[in-house]
Amino acid sequence: MEFKFNNDGLIPAVVQDYRTGEVLMLAYMNEEAIQKTKETKTSWFYSRSRQELWNKGATSGHTQTVKKMSYDCDEDTILLQVEQKGAACHTGERSCFYRDIELGEEPTFKRDVVNQIYQSIIDRQENPKEGSYTNYLFDEGIDKILKKVGEEAGEVIIGAKNDDHENLAMEIADLTYHILVLLAEKGMPVERVKEELTKRVKGE
Ligand code: AMP
Ligand code: ZN
Ligand code: ZN
Ligand code: ZN
Repeated sequence: MEFKFNNDGLIPAVVQDYRTGEVLMLAYMNEEAIQKTKETKTSWFYSRSRQELWNKGATSGHTQTVKKMSYDCDEDTILLQVEQKGAACHTGERSCFYRDIELGEEPTFKRDVVNQIYQSIIDRQENPKEGSYTNYLFDEGIDKILKKVGEEAGEVIIGAKNDDHENLAMEIADLTYHILVLLAEKGMPVERVKEELTKRVKGE
């Protein structure tokens, strides 16, 4: 594959969470970084400030396992879909893009909010936090989680009988959250369910 490297012999690489699609970071690769990434299935970049090759996570432990490597229409950008351990950003934020530029209008809902909630559940699972309800559920175990799924499903049914959309939305959100905790407990990515739903859209 012939890539269009810039004058410094570099090509930008967008790094994305392979499960949620969250954009994690952007860094530059040179020919060698691309080779090493292919060989090791972990991400390698070229640091413009330090002028050296860099294996993401080598010092922080926040490694990236490369699940898929693609390039764009005019071969001047690479896309890495990775399994990110811990934070992609050196600040400790999961994604480098944690700061918003205000556009003056509030969205009525966050795009991909289900994935984001699932991601924060996985974060709690990996790094338990004092007083976290999610960690309480994981500590209690599968039976407690299943009991909550059952309870919340019951509350959805009750909520649906009253004509209160506000309350019904809350109950469906409760049920959704507990189902996401169940998926995490089972070690299943949300994508597994999305694959299943996708098959049904296509009528397969
Ligand atoms: P790490 O690769 O996570 O062990 O971090 C090693 C060094 O790479 C850090 O001290 C930063 O200089 C740099 N670095 C790590 N992550 C990023 C990032 N997302 N964007 C830019 N530089 C980074
Ligand atoms: Zn391009
Ligand atoms: Zn960053
Ligand atoms: Zn509820």
